[in-house]
Amino acid sequence: PAKPRSREVPVVPQGVSRDQFLEALEELKRELGEENVEVNDKPLKDGWYMEHPNTHDMMTILDEEEFVAGAVAYPGNTDEVVKMVKWANRWLVPIFPISMGRNLGYGGAAPRVRGSVTVDLGRRMNKILDINPQDYTCLVEPGVSFYGLYEELGRRGLREHMWVDTPDLGGGSIIGNTVDRGVGYTPYGDHWACHSGLEVVLPTGEVIRTGMGALTEGGENTWGVFPYGFGPYSDGIFSQSNFGIVTKMGMTLMPNPGGHESFMYTFPKEEDLGPLMEIIRPLRISTILENVAQLRHVTQTIAAAGLPKSHFFSGSGTIPPEIIHSAAAASPVGDHTWAYYGMSYGPPHIRSYKLAIIDAEFSKIPGCRKIDPSTLPEDEYFWSRDRIASGTPDIHELRWVNWAPNGAHIAFSPVSPIRSADATKLFQLGKRIHEKYGIDFMPAFIVGLREMHLIVEIVFDRDDREEKERALECLRDMVDEAAREGYGEYRTHLVLMDQVAGTYGWGGGALGRFNERLKDALDPNGILAPGRCGIWGERYRGRGWEM
Ligand code: ADP
Repeated sequence: PAKPRSREVPVVPQGVSRDQFLEALEELKRELGEENVEVNDKPLKDGWYMEHPNTHDMMTILDEEEFVAGAVAYPGNTDEVVKMVKWANRWLVPIFPISMGRNLGYGGAAPRVRGSVTVDLGRRMNKILDINPQDYTCLVEPGVSFYGLYEELGRRGLREHMWVDTPDLGGGSIIGNTVDRGVGYTPYGDHWACHSGLEVVLPTGEVIRTGMGALTEGGENTWGVFPYGFGPYSDGIFSQSNFGIVTKMGMTLMPNPGGHESFMYTFPKEEDLGPLMEIIRPLRISTILENVAQLRHVTQTIAAAGLPKSHFFSGSGTIPPEIIHSAAAASPVGDHTWAYYGMSYGPPHIRSYKLAIIDAEFSKIPGCRKIDPSTLPEDEYFWSRDRIASGTPDIHELRWVNWAPNGAHIAFSPVSPIRSADATKLFQLGKRIHEKYGIDFMPAFIVGLREMHLIVEIVFDRDDREEKERALECLRDMVDEAAREGYGEYRTHLVLMDQVAGTYGWGGGALGRFNERLKDALDPNGILAPGRCGIWGERYRGRGWEM
């Protein structure tokens, strides 16, 4: 829902006067064109996923006014990004790049420092520069979404030929998701591992290309097929950081495997989690289980149907397990607790070989049930997983935010080995801390290859201050306790970045100091995305910005 607030004056970044800021923006308008710079002096509107705001986080866990942009600018090409970076250095105005800003659950489009000028790359830099059907590669700008690439493959008649790996929600930017190290659900699900070569505008305005794109001449020839080039592999420092603005990226695409088949198994008891992990690990590492697969708790399955919690339960506190189970009775999960969603790829004879092994192994869990997809109605969640695992973008996943009125979500996402003891420990930790804060626990284990992320989305009412505070406390407790047990977050929300960076404190914080040294060398004025991923330039450090 839109929640207009009155604001007559723009938000101004700290250390800059209002008049200076407005003068700086006038100069930026002369560089980028009047129409490509917007002062954020209007009431904040939340919109929804496909019409999201670029001034703030539409799912904010803090007060909406905390992480909010002072202005938004729309550069149209790499040269204009360079101009903007130089402008920021002249005026010492913090800038915050986004590709499309649909990073929901992790901060959306919001900058970490209030009053920053958001560099919205996606609006005008949205070209697919190349699609190469022989090499199965493409070269994209920041505004190309998973949907956008998928549709273009359709227009060129290439959809049967090659697939786009898509995350749970397909409206985000390929570059945005990849630099934040997001994942999808085909065998090409590790987006960072699948990218190849970047063009980056550095915080001082130089432009570099990494990998093969760095060749003096003809770099396009091998840009997408070999990620490393020669010399140090620099790409890593441009993911989950604030060291540069990515303006182009090579990406690999998956060949159509010649057939695919989704499968779903359910398992009766919460305690089945441990033994299941022992079954999943060897199957996944040997790629009999071929894709990034999901083991979801029944509470999440119920929420994914899209009805509010109040439909099932009007009491206070967490929803009782017996109500969850009665709500699930009519769903494919029935009276069971866990649902595993996977996909097998290839022609029928290849699939049947793998599916038989999977069936024999999963059947070792007493009571295990294989769901027959032909019994499932069209709008069943299973089919959303089926589309995503076969390269068709989707947004069904959003439905579970309806669980709370004015629903928003924020994630706890620690990494663990795929082992019985670890899964059980993390599950118990999450369950206990959720219970303590009276929050419904909706865990899903996302199995990578040798590791898994436990993804727990806390759904909250973004208009309820008390509920938001509780959700944040719950998260902070889980992050700290999990880190003490050896489980670090793979990615996090803006508000938790300092805390999570702090948990990677080995060697007396050696990695953090290394990042600071890089930051100061690359961005001496500290103008680029200050605070992102817990990295602050010298100008900001020790002045109370960390939270
Ligand atoms: P999406 O719309 O795909 O979810 P976002 O545009 O919200 O992705 O990007 C996620 C985060 O990654 C942003 O908040 C920003 O910090 C960072 N980011 C996105 N695009 C770029 C880019 N082109 N260069 C540098 N950092 C980026």
